[in-house]
Amino acid sequence: MGEVRQRREIVTELPGPRSRELMERRRAAVPAGVGATMPVFAAAAEGGVLVDVDGNTFIDLGAGIAVLNVGSAAPAVAEAVAAQAAAFTHTCFQVTPYEGYVALAEQLNGLVPGDVARRSFFLNSGAEAVENAVKVARAATGRQAVVAFDHAFHGRTLMGMSLTAKAAPYKRTFGPLAPEVYRMAYSYPYRCSAGASYEECGPACAEAAISAMDRQIGGDRIAALVIEPVLGEGGVVVPGAGFLQALAAYCQEHGIVFVADEVQAGFARTGRWFSIEHSGVVPDIVTTAKGLGGGLPIGGVTGRAELMDAVHPGGLGSTFGGNPVSCAAALAAIEEVRAKDLLSAAGRIGEVFSTRLRPLAEECAAVGDVRVIGAMAAVEFVSDKARKTPDPKAASRVLASCHEQGVIALRAGTFDNVVRILPPLVIGEELLVDGLEIMEKAIRAL
Ligand SMILES: *Cc1c(COP(=O)(O)O)cnc(C)c1O
Repeated sequence: MGEVRQRREIVTELPGPRSRELMERRRAAVPAGVGATMPVFAAAAEGGVLVDVDGNTFIDLGAGIAVLNVGSAAPAVAEAVAAQAAAFTHTCFQVTPYEGYVALAEQLNGLVPGDVARRSFFLNSGAEAVENAVKVARAATGRQAVVAFDHAFHGRTLMGMSLTAKAAPYKRTFGPLAPEVYRMAYSYPYRCSAGASYEECGPACAEAAISAMDRQIGGDRIAALVIEPVLGEGGVVVPGAGFLQALAAYCQEHGIVFVADEVQAGFARTGRWFSIEHSGVVPDIVTTAKGLGGGLPIGGVTGRAELMDAVHPGGLGSTFGGNPVSCAAALAAIEEVRAKDLLSAAGRIGEVFSTRLRPLAEECAAVGDVRVIGAMAAVEFVSDKARKTPDPKAASRVLASCHEQGVIALRAGTFDNVVRILPPLVIGEELLVDGLEIMEKAIRAL
């Protein structure tokens, strides 16, 4: 680590005077529609901490929404960015190509599971990656229908928000939405929509989804099934065993392109390069963004060569997509994951989560469910344990208490009743435990 002390330290009231001033300017200059989790302005970030403009040091359990897997300003990433920025910052890959883009495509083609020929191309964001995965699937199949799932989040562009499940705040007032999007139940074992037990939820929800696809659309009309192998915004929901496998088998049988949206759960977050690896399913297309660029904006689509090559020349692209600086950052971030063995680090963080958080589900009346997969965890709050009544206010109280004491954590869930924890994978254990203890105390105080 370099400059920033890896220790929580709050030295002013929150927000401090500098942040208050900047919040005033923000209110006058930026629309209210752009959300704000914390009222403090960033000055520096490194490892597992963020320092605000008043000198307060926060423990970062959000990683800029699962982006800073290798840490903020990771030296190897910062050096690669500086070197690339000094050489050239942009050419537009479709105008004058450069090696970094191709090298990154080669890396992703090798990392995505399955022993098949792959191709990759790059955009600027997760939403754009999802948009382009749908374009590829439609072009390759000649079909139009796209299947998405309950509790899903796929971005805020037209197709992204159409595929996203939650109306408020993502879709409300922004219609009309894209046509030919169909929604199926996701396997959410704690709230199984088929009423099945934890063990039976996977097969039961897969059967329901498959039956609904047959009845409502017809397998031969579906271009793509777009799914998060682990729900992120939906509340860190790990589907029941057998769910993804059954859907993948249905896709294979009917020539449907299986798109794993790995924007949030991918890139080492769950202890694997891609969260789909936990299921053994080989996806046709994988979308990436968030952690991919080591903090710089980039989105990727990686898919089977025959699907990707089905699109006519010129049909895919973007002015900035796969910008050379972002590609250099992504290549350095991939190297960081390998050099620091962050896959194992994510697993170790998951063990700390399990030890500290799992007991809360038994011991606290307000905690309905605790979910952990690698360095991705969630605590779901309920006001009535037997009925599983969502309690968004409890989540708000826990988040407010964390924020006041210098711990950044995020909300999630269709019912806004989930606290989500996504630390940088380079966070020190002491720092992590300090952050979790503060959260634990807030939860026990409910
Ligand atoms: C964040 C997210 C997106 C959208 O990514 P942006 O870069 O914000 O456009 C898409 N899919 C999933 C699963 C995400 O978590």
